[in-house]
Amino acid sequence: MSMRLTWDEYDTEESGSQPSVANGAANGVIADLAVRETVDAAVTPVEGEAAAIFAAPVAEPSPMQALPAAQPASVEPVPPSVPPPAQEPVPPEVAPATAAAPEAPGTHASVETPEVSLELDGELDGEPDGKQSRERVTVDQKAMINCRADLNQLVPFKYDWAWQKYLDGCANHWMPQEINMTADIMLWKSEDGLTPDERKIVKRSLGFFSTADSLVANNLALAIYRLITNPECRQYILRQAFEEAIHTHAYQYCIESLGMDEGEIFNMYREVDSVEAKAGWALEYTRALADPTFRTGTPENDRTLLKNLIAYYCVLEGIFFYCGFTQILSMGRRNKMTGTSEQFQYILRDESMHVNFGIDVINQIKLENPQLWDEEMQSLANRMILEGTELEIRYAQDTMPRGVLGMNANMMAEYLRFIANRRLAQIGLTEHFAGVRNPFPWMSEIMDLKKEKNFFETRVTEYQTGGALSWD
Ligand code: FE
Repeated sequence: MSMRLTWDEYDTEESGSQPSVANGAANGVIADLAVRETVDAAVTPVEGEAAAIFAAPVAEPSPMQALPAAQPASVEPVPPSVPPPAQEPVPPEVAPATAAAPEAPGTHASVETPEVSLELDGELDGEPDGKQSRERVTVDQKAMINCRADLNQLVPFKYDWAWQKYLDGCANHWMPQEINMTADIMLWKSEDGLTPDERKIVKRSLGFFSTADSLVANNLALAIYRLITNPECRQYILRQAFEEAIHTHAYQYCIESLGMDEGEIFNMYREVDSVEAKAGWALEYTRALADPTFRTGTPENDRTLLKNLIAYYCVLEGIFFYCGFTQILSMGRRNKMTGTSEQFQYILRDESMHVNFGIDVINQIKLENPQLWDEEMQSLANRMILEGTELEIRYAQDTMPRGVLGMNANMMAEYLRFIANRRLAQIGLTEHFAGVRNPFPWMSEIMDLKKEKNFFETRVTEYQTGGALSWD
């Protein structure tokens, strides 16, 4: 009998679940951050730079390199003309910093990392004759970063939660073409179907998200995957990367269905300030890691990876998505753009899992490498989340110059501060915004939907693939 999962079994955003690897050390927070000043300095648009990060030429040609300098900036990498060499990271000679790590909930028992001679990520360098070592991998040898055990062996699992998230993600598989867009097309093409403010929200949302999910996918595939040295986490990252592709597909499907100007929508992240500010902020944190010569194993580089994970999971996916999601889902609740809203509803379900996976990875790295999570790093993480919140509030102000869909920018700002508090707490920091509440409790309801039909009365949102269905 196969396992059937419902939304309430996931770690949903506002439903009160706690990070499965809570740090609990809520210290090191600078309460009086000059957020506005920091943001002003951090988000000054750099012309042309937003698109160029994955296309930036490096000193030596590499499969990680996206485009030669002469080509226009693009987030789409061009495959190399010759087969790429292996890109597995080669850990440094120093011992991995995993010894005596505190045991985390949801992980197998782990004691001290033994002194063992292991292959480097499965490369055939373990024995003098070039053959692989025959030593079997044990749980204690596995680690989130800088692991020297064979990464080609999925089991034994160390992080059961990562494998479970992989299974949950597969159970939730969906495709954009399965959703009926007929009503949206009619509404979009009728002259008085939507107000100008509502049209702006639809276009801005598709403009931001159509690029943002590509940024996340590129960061995963070109930076994160090779630096996370754990097979079960890599398995989920592969699943997540495909989900990002499905999300980008969904936005493209909406844009094409509605007959929008594709050039206008897909270039918003370079041409619309409030969208560019968010994309540019995130791209800064992938710049170093996208360099194929980047390696973890030094305190500085391990921190760079941790910053990237916080930027992409806690801020980009954890904050930057929430204004647009709320706006489009609110539209669907009003029986407008119901197909687009349903697409976003499935995407939100996936994204909720992405965020929770990333937070578990971040907390696991903290536990295994406590030296990285010092006062300076905590202060930086705090500042990053507050910067992201401020950028998303600016996006809300840009997309909602006046009240629309039963909400306004001030309400959205409170919601985003509510989300920010949650992100801070999830990585063990102190909540920053006192007294905020969730002005959109229905967002929690959407994420917590169980077996009821969704708000749009199309089909049950807990739709799952055949392999995950129960036949009881
Ligand atoms: Fe995502």
